[in-house]
Amino acid sequence: MEGLTFRGSFVNGRAVGVFLGLRTIILALVVGAGIVILQGTQGEITVGPLYVLLVCGCVVGGVFFVGLRLGLPPSVCVWSIMVADVILETALVHYSGGMSSQFSLIFCLSIIAAAFLLQVHGGLGIALLASFAYLSYGVLQAKGVLSPPGPSGLDGQTASAGFLHAYMHVSLFFMVGAVGGYLAQRIRLKGRELQNAETELQRLKVDTNNIINNMSSGILVVDSKAKILTINPTAEEILGVEKEDVVGLGVEAALGPLVPHFAQEMLEALVEKQNKRRHEISIRTRDGRRMPLGLSISILKDEKGRARGVIAVFQDLTEARKMQEKMRKADRLAAIGELSAGIAHEIRNPLASISGSIEVLYNELDLSGENRRLMELIVKESDRLDRIINDFLEFARLRPPSLDNVSLTRCLDDVFVLLRNNPALKCGIETEVRHLDGDVTVRFDEEQMKQVLLNLAINACEAMDRPGKITVQTQRVGSDDIKITFTDEGTGIGEEEIARLFEPFFTTKEGGTGLGLAIANKIVEAHGGRIEVRNRELIGAEFSILIPIRMPVRRQETAEVLHPVG
Ligand code: ADP
Ligand code: MG
Repeated sequence: MEGLTFRGSFVNGRAVGVFLGLRTIILALVVGAGIVILQGTQGEITVGPLYVLLVCGCVVGGVFFVGLRLGLPPSVCVWSIMVADVILETALVHYSGGMSSQFSLIFCLSIIAAAFLLQVHGGLGIALLASFAYLSYGVLQAKGVLSPPGPSGLDGQTASAGFLHAYMHVSLFFMVGAVGGYLAQRIRLKGRELQNAETELQRLKVDTNNIINNMSSGILVVDSKAKILTINPTAEEILGVEKEDVVGLGVEAALGPLVPHFAQEMLEALVEKQNKRRHEISIRTRDGRRMPLGLSISILKDEKGRARGVIAVFQDLTEARKMQEKMRKADRLAAIGELSAGIAHEIRNPLASISGSIEVLYNELDLSGENRRLMELIVKESDRLDRIINDFLEFARLRPPSLDNVSLTRCLDDVFVLLRNNPALKCGIETEVRHLDGDVTVRFDEEQMKQVLLNLAINACEAMDRPGKITVQTQRVGSDDIKITFTDEGTGIGEEEIARLFEPFFTTKEGGTGLGLAIANKIVEAHGGRIEVRNRELIGAEFSILIPIRMPVRRQETAEVLHPVG
């Protein structure tokens, strides 16, 4: 039965319900009027059967209405009613005078309804059914099988006139079916186009509003009379106004007292009818702060090119200014750094001569007492100066890392060989290296990374004023990184010092340069990694280097105790 639902028909429950209602009204009007008119023919035709037909028509409508409510498919419902109606209409024709009945055109109503509900094929289908019923009835009436009550209009008609009568009716039925179907289709098509256009319009409206409301730039539009038409949320925030308070007001009245310069610019553009390229103005915000504003003003034109108002697009430049200032500062610092490195370099050579000469004097002169103490101070301090200059040059002129695949185990072994020859490794300090994931080949600049590891190891040794243990542990983190952790049992780091550890020249040691961690941090950052610092719970500090590996090797836990000293 569902096959009766043709593609493109718009038969749905609601449409069929409306059709049933209209059908009842038309039935009442047409048949009711028929009864009244035929009653006037003074007994030529008995109207009793017409009452029966009226009731039958209403009952059919009622039955299908209930059927629809109970879930009968709407298309089945429509086709069934159409067939029932053609039968009822044929009966009506019969009881109202047969082939010559004034009601013979009543078939057209069903055909039009079918055309609208079931499209062209529906209209033509019911036209075919109506023609068949009408012609069959005509044949039966002509053969005398059926004779309508009352005088028949066919009486005295020639066969050819009767044929012409039937032919005209059938042609009309098909024409009504085809034209009705075509019109219904056009109406439906136009309706759909209208709906699509409306949806598109709605979408465009939403899109435009969305864009304007979500823009990070402020937008203010005024009409040709300088009345504010639109203001977006960013503009409200920048100008410190509420949309409801300013839309519809003149720009001078709404914004003049708050941001006079801004209002003035808009009015000027409106009078001169000239775009203003992006330029910078300064406004005062509600909290009294000066805000730099990047402002561009464009003339809003209609289709004929006449000025309809102006659009101001503006941005708060506070953050951009801060960033520019920061960059200027960084540039200045870089220049100072370069200059300092140049000076340090120039100091290094004479300093080497001074240190050398003093060393010779110290060895050759047999000084004693205060003079000896002063000479020792000069030697010590010139050594320190030398260290500072060298470390500083190292820090300032750090070259970019040249990467190589390096075995971490071997690299740490080399570092501990160097550490063994360093005076920082005092008696009683024990070291342990643990490779939790076996040997790992890491891609880094070997020389630079050794310097980092040595700096951390020396710092750990220097922090321990009593015997204790320094542990170095390597461990993979995820699949991409390796973590090298130095833990010591030294003094730990003061809370306020932690934030300053990586600052150049920050030191708490007498004779320290404060450049070891600054250099280490710079190298690790150049390798795409970072250094993390924390105090251990009971004693000492923990420094962890996290850097990318790139090349994973075998996994196995090894632990070895290296270089027990003392
Ligand atoms: P320097 O060693 O010349 O002082 P660094 O940059 O190497 O310079 O270290 C800066 C400061 O960080 C040190 O003076 C010290 O106060 C602190 N520090 C570094 N490593 C440790 C550590 N393992 N334990 C405690 N403090 C440390
Ligand atoms: Mg150091």
